[in-house]
Amino acid sequence: MALVYNWQIGRSMSYWYPENRPKRQFAAVFDINKCIACQTCTLACKTTWTSGKGQEYMLWNNVESKPFGCYPLAWDLSLLERLDLQSWQQAAYTGRTVFEAAEAGERVLGWRPNDLDYAYPNVGEDDCTGRVDRGAALHLPHLHWFFYLARICNHCTYPACLVSCPRGSIYKRPEDGIVLVDQRRCRGYRECVKACPYKKVFYNPLTGTSEKCIACFPKIEAKQQPQCFVNCIGKIRLAGWLSTPERARADNPLDYLVHVRKIALPLFPQFGLEPNVYYIPPIHVPGAFLTQLFGPGVPAAIDAYRKAPDDPDLAGLLELFGCTERVVPRWERSGDWVAALDDQGKEIVRVPLREPVYVRQAFDARHQVTRTNCP
Ligand code: SF4
Ligand code: SF4
Repeated sequence: MALVYNWQIGRSMSYWYPENRPKRQFAAVFDINKCIACQTCTLACKTTWTSGKGQEYMLWNNVESKPFGCYPLAWDLSLLERLDLQSWQQAAYTGRTVFEAAEAGERVLGWRPNDLDYAYPNVGEDDCTGRVDRGAALHLPHLHWFFYLARICNHCTYPACLVSCPRGSIYKRPEDGIVLVDQRRCRGYRECVKACPYKKVFYNPLTGTSEKCIACFPKIEAKQQPQCFVNCIGKIRLAGWLSTPERARADNPLDYLVHVRKIALPLFPQFGLEPNVYYIPPIHVPGAFLTQLFGPGVPAAIDAYRKAPDDPDLAGLLELFGCTERVVPRWERSGDWVAALDDQGKEIVRVPLREPVYVRQAFDARHQVTRTNCP
């Protein structure tokens, strides 16, 4: 075992291999507050990569309604039950990670779902936390709540899938940090399926191999964002490159959201994988639930997000989500305009800080009709 530094849990931890960060790390920010669970991302991925035989129950991208939704069934609860008490002392995690809690003879604390756990991709969809009487309105945030959690592989800095593979079939690309399964080496032992705490490796019974999200690497190589990003109806996603905290640059959009403003947080950082998909937490959900999901940074993240309307830099950067098909390595705001820039500082796209609002009169004199969407 090696000792590696995991900045998300604020301490060093045991890992099977020494720290070996890629030249650049592919990463993403998802703004949960904007997701409408249209599942366009799920279908964009499915029709691109997993429409073949043997891939029927494979959802490299899925969107589940929390707190009751989960795919595969109870992927999160099953592990949380097995882990020790997960406590934090300010920004440092004092519990054990899945590597540190591994049983004797195992590299990772994991569990393997059975076939039926994959049978209900939309379980719990739109179920809220309490009973709402027939005819009553749902008033957020005071009554009951739910929210949508879009999930892909996190292309973790310390992947559990990679360390668990007895064949050495899983590798992390040094040029972009994308984690892939070598289909020629894989023999389908499903150790990775058991080890990944996010359950983002899937077994294909026809090929006898494990398969997973590839971050649309052919698109990344062409400087384009993945399919689930560019097809997102809610414009909740932004793909880019993430630095370690000490190398963070304010003109890198992901660094700005994750390190500078700290409004985007990792999913279950206590597992210890340093996942590279970050979430802006939903502002209407009770803090205790969110802290278990995203760690102790939740209150500050929500506070900053709520103040975004009076914060032109933050508001401006949030406007860039979903505005271009290109990966956005740099950005800048100048007055009322926000620009996405490429590595050389050349403009990719420019958007206004505030969209103009046009109020259409209900009565259209030209066509002599009344148009209104409201009764
Ligand atoms: S999310 Fe799972 S499949 Fe993806 S890199 Fe991390 S451990 Fe591997
Ligand atoms: S396409 Fe975007 S808005 Fe629709 S479910 Fe996926 S992440 Fe949410």
